[in-house]
Amino acid sequence: MAELSTNLRWPAVEGIISDLDGVVYRGKTPILDAVKTFNNWQAQGLPFCFVTNNSTHTPDDVMRKLGGFGLRIEPRNVVTSAITTAELIRANYPNLNRIYVIGAPSLVAAIATVDLEVTDRSPQVVVMGLDRLISHEKMRTAVNAILGGAVFIGTNPDLLLPTEDGFEPGAGAALAAVAAATQTKPIIVGKPEVHMIETALSRLGTSRQSTIMIGDQIATDIQAGKRAGLLSVLVTTGVPPKQDPMLIPPDFMVSSLTELKFEIRLSQSGAQQ
Ligand SMILES: [Mg+2]
Repeated sequence: MAELSTNLRWPAVEGIISDLDGVVYRGKTPILDAVKTFNNWQAQGLPFCFVTNNSTHTPDDVMRKLGGFGLRIEPRNVVTSAITTAELIRANYPNLNRIYVIGAPSLVAAIATVDLEVTDRSPQVVVMGLDRLISHEKMRTAVNAILGGAVFIGTNPDLLLPTEDGFEPGAGAALAAVAAATQTKPIIVGKPEVHMIETALSRLGTSRQSTIMIGDQIATDIQAGKRAGLLSVLVTTGVPPKQDPMLIPPDFMVSSLTELKFEIRLSQSGAQQ
């Protein structure tokens, strides 16, 4: 295994937090080594929680997708930026109830589930996630609400998403347009921010020192893991990772999750799978 720092030793690991796309699958194709490794961890009782910036899928969607690859999980093993956004509004803005949402049905559902009103009438909060049906009209509503004082929240900052036949603009691209128009910086929920990592940690019930973060992107996964105080592992897909001197580097780098060898310690307080 390639270790970036020779001084670093593996701690005994009690829990895993991991990204999904690029780690467990690429689009619709499973990454077999990863599926095998998570199955092994599950068999040994090591709890894990997936964190995804993608706001267009629900935890149930992810459960079904991974089930199709032979990895059986529960919805509570998945933290999405959509659900974390809803929880963040409830926790940080308890008096704001009228929310304008630009995003997929899963994001609208996540907001409505915590008893917030999804409306375009005098919204107090604007939430933007990836919306493949975004329009000038939707952006106009968002811009006016933000200029009128609404809190501006983005599910995730991803600018570019790989697709089967190229790329598409991510949620962060439309977010940047509204940010530019209003000259207002959005609050970001997804990675590289720590909100989803904190949610995952509380679900696992494990300590920071004994929980590792796995991801395929230095700019989002590794930054979020390091900011939350976790040892972080970059898994490469054969493409050399882009090193950016402005970003915190990963602690470990592997080309397959099967290279990860550490002692598993089963936590008393850790959640059962
Ligand atoms: Mg990824």
